[in-house]
Amino acid sequence: MDDAFAAAQMNMTPHYQTVSQLMQDVDTLEVGDPNELSYDVVGELWREIQGDSNDCLSEESPHFESCFIQQARTRLKAADIIVSNHTLFFTDFYLKQKGMYGLFPEYEAVIFDEGHRIKDVFSKCFQKVGYVKEIENLFDRCLNKRSQWAKAVFEDVEADYPELPLKQAPS
Ligand code: SF4
Repeated sequence: MDDAFAAAQMNMTPHYQTVSQLMQDVDTLEVGDPNELSYDVVGELWREIQGDSNDCLSEESPHFESCFIQQARTRLKAADIIVSNHTLFFTDFYLKQKGMYGLFPEYEAVIFDEGHRIKDVFSKCFQKVGYVKEIENLFDRCLNKRSQWAKAVFEDVEADYPELPLKQAPS
């Protein structure tokens, strides 16, 4: 979001108006869901600003306290019973299998409704699908140093191999 706002301030994004509006409205949202907004946020922009476990800084994030994802995790931790859809359940399962933070706290028992759908949802969660647009977005983010991770990698490579003719894209 910070990167999107910085780009918006420099009028470098076609979504300038929406990002500016979002920055004004973000404190009024309860859970950070696009359904809480009275206007549309195009998918391309939402993918840019939404939380992402791949580049989440967790406690090191300057927005950790106000982060909707972290707040949701805290609420889930305090819950005795969590009602989830299959997709979220298996996303949590998948993340934990990969050694990442899951969405849900540890649980003792699970009751499945609509059990006949489990096979399909499970397959979808574990299949690997690559969308050209997502790969392009990832590439753009690296080039534009839009994630802390990409920035850190770039700086490390630059420091370790000063002889390489690296060029940083304008950020
Ligand atoms: S805690 Fe992670 S997901 Fe939340 S704002 Fe920070 S980097 Fe984004």
